Amino acid sequence: MSARILIVDDLVPNIRLLEVKLTAEYYDVVTATNGHDAIDIAKTEKLDLILLDAMMPEMDGFEVCRQIKSDPNLAHIPVIMLTALEESHNRVRGLKVGADDFITKPINDLILMARVRAQLRIKMITDQLLSHTGYSVANSQSVLEQIGQQQARILIIEDNETRARKLSEPFHHKHLIRIEGDPRAAIQAAKAGTDTIIVSLVSTNFDGLRVCASLRFDEKTKDIPILALGDLEDESRLVRAYDLGVNDLLLRPIETEEIKARVDSQLRRKFFTDSLRDNFNENLEMVISDPLTGLGNRRYFDRKIETLFELLENEGEAFSIMVFDIDHFKRVNDILGHDMGDTILKEVAARLVSNMRAMDIVSRYGGEEFIIAMPKTNAAEALLAAERVRSFVGGTPVYIGGQAHIITTSAGVAEVQPGEKLRDVFKRADAALYRAKQQGRNKVMPAEDLNQAA
Ligand code: GH3
Ligand code: MG
Ligand code: MG
Repeated sequence: MSARILIVDDLVPNIRLLEVKLTAEYYDVVTATNGHDAIDIAKTEKLDLILLDAMMPEMDGFEVCRQIKSDPNLAHIPVIMLTALEESHNRVRGLKVGADDFITKPINDLILMARVRAQLRIKMITDQLLSHTGYSVANSQSVLEQIGQQQARILIIEDNETRARKLSEPFHHKHLIRIEGDPRAAIQAAKAGTDTIIVSLVSTNFDGLRVCASLRFDEKTKDIPILALGDLEDESRLVRAYDLGVNDLLLRPIETEEIKARVDSQLRRKFFTDSLRDNFNENLEMVISDPLTGLGNRRYFDRKIETLFELLENEGEAFSIMVFDIDHFKRVNDILGHDMGDTILKEVAARLVSNMRAMDIVSRYGGEEFIIAMPKTNAAEALLAAERVRSFVGGTPVYIGGQAHIITTSAGVAEVQPGEKLRDVFKRADAALYRAKQQGRNKVMPAEDLNQAA
């Protein structure tokens, strides 16, 4: 589906002009001729971007922008303000009410398209993260405000001292600034970790575009916001910068207030997506790992083991599973309490993992039961491994509150037979485990063969 863009301008001819340009690029366009309508549309339609005229009668663009950006449900929609006014105080005013970018009229087509694309790209990433984290748009707003206060690392890539000083001026008291005049050293510095980069495209000693390209193609730096310093007259370079994935432009002559506003806006976005991404990774881990032991959980195991079934089917590569269960764990809980029980569970999990190969898949399948898959392992080998693990777990006491407790486990082991389902091999291993328990615990038993069991 193509991106939906709302154009807001009190002059219909201006709207038509933009509408034609954007429709030609296959964007889906909606229009409004005043601020009230614009806000209504933003509330009722799913928008990806708003192009907003600054000067309108009644409610002007600054007010529209302020209202949109202070509405938790709308604030994530990027707003690009359009103005005929060249004065930077207006741009700054726009950025201060939360506008994400600014374009001056008469509108330069290439700059327009580049800025639209850049904003839509950020919107798309944010949308994806939002949909994966279960964050609501509304509660992400408080995150946004909070992270706006954070101290940032800013890297300025510029070899002219006067320009570098001018660029760093607004941030000295708040952020950590690093200035690099040598592109190689600069890229190294970027890789070491930074939150925003300003790259000079006007240096005569290095090619800023090349630096932008290197930063964008490196896994470590590809998501760091880049602001490029350039001249409007040098249009083709600016367009190439955007094509390379630069996030924003600083056009000369640059005003301190504007640098500050544009950098702040990039930092907000960066910290926001960082926090969404952290949250996303956390959720992802929660889904596949068990919080108590840190082992993979049942879902993780079921997913990981699919490859082993394929290898068995396609290449006849053997693999085995073993099911471990702690002996008399109810009694452990009764005597020591549930919390100590948890501690023991963790310790047993750690002992299991430490005694398995890196390629083995160890998971907590539920309660005090663990299931382990051993790739490239037949029944006899798995039995030996299980025996080794059993004796290791029960071989040294677990110390709790200065008291030694011997914790033992029992296990059932089965080699997966061709054509066999996980459910069925699990049943065989579990039956073997049951026999181990019956025969006195602290024991390993092999599963019966398929044909015997059948
Ligand atoms: P057996 O030797 O036959 O396995 O005896 P058992 O007492 O271990 O019996 P069973 O496997 O049926 O009981 C498991 C007990 O493990 C029951 C439950 O209270 C306890 N348990 C399960 N999950 C947890 C947990 O996360 N923490 C703690 N502390 N206890 C748990
Ligand atoms: Mg048990
Ligand atoms: Mg059990």
